[in-house]
Amino acid sequence: MVEFKDVQKYFGDFHALKDINLKVDSGETVVVIGPSGSGKSTLIRTINGLESIQSGQLIVNGYDLASKKTNLNLIRKDVGMVFQHFNLYANKTILENIMLAPRIVLHRDEKENKQIANELLEKVGLTSQANKFPAQLSGGQQQRAAIARSLAMKPKCLLFDEPTSALDPEMIGDVLNVMKDIARDSDMTMIVVTHEMGFAREVANRVVFMADGQILEDDSSDVFFKGEPKNERAKRFLSNII
Ligand code: ATP
Ligand code: MG
Repeated sequence: MVEFKDVQKYFGDFHALKDINLKVDSGETVVVIGPSGSGKSTLIRTINGLESIQSGQLIVNGYDLASKKTNLNLIRKDVGMVFQHFNLYANKTILENIMLAPRIVLHRDEKENKQIANELLEKVGLTSQANKFPAQLSGGQQQRAAIARSLAMKPKCLLFDEPTSALDPEMIGDVLNVMKDIARDSDMTMIVVTHEMGFAREVANRVVFMADGQILEDDSSDVFFKGEPKNERAKRFLSNII
């Protein structure tokens, strides 16, 4: 469970997140949209402590991120993140990429670790690529490997920051399908920054619209896609991207 209460985030004098109030329940899938520079990446990066907040409360799986006492490593064990540019370890095979964090952070038994990694490779359709290095894979394959790597930690919450926006169009569908399967088959909480409205319509429980560091609209996806958003900017943004 993730809950923002009156959260403010500054980069120096720049007010990047303004009065954020947002609650995402366990198992929910929430899509975050909004124009470039509106604070979407900043918002989700606060959830695993990649960005600090200056005031308010941010509770993630029971831990308060505003508290200096909170151990970020404990949070990051339960909160995975998938980036636009995959961020795989270039000098490790795909299988090794997936096995590394569970071995080091969770001390998972090596045989079990390998078995889980192979199951995940199958789930994302990369069994035949297990022993290749990231540079030998297509962008879509690398992103599916990055998703498998996050899943190997069995996180409670998975954050995605525009996971398909660096991909060639023909690669996007495979990655979205993997994400749809996760949203349907697992009870993981997913917070996804994306402009893929087909994905949002199909699997999101809610759609959050941000502009200028604020949340201007937070609707169930039914309301968002059927009824019109109440906020004029959200309405205009939506009409421009679908
Ligand atoms: P995009 O769609 O382009 O990815 P975004 O909605 O993810 O945009 P953010 O990356 O969260 O936007 O940035 C929000 C604002 O905060 C922008 O004005 C950006 O310039 C600023 N910002 C982000 N990171 C930093 C930083 N490390 N230092 C200073 N300003 C930053
Ligand atoms: Mg961004």
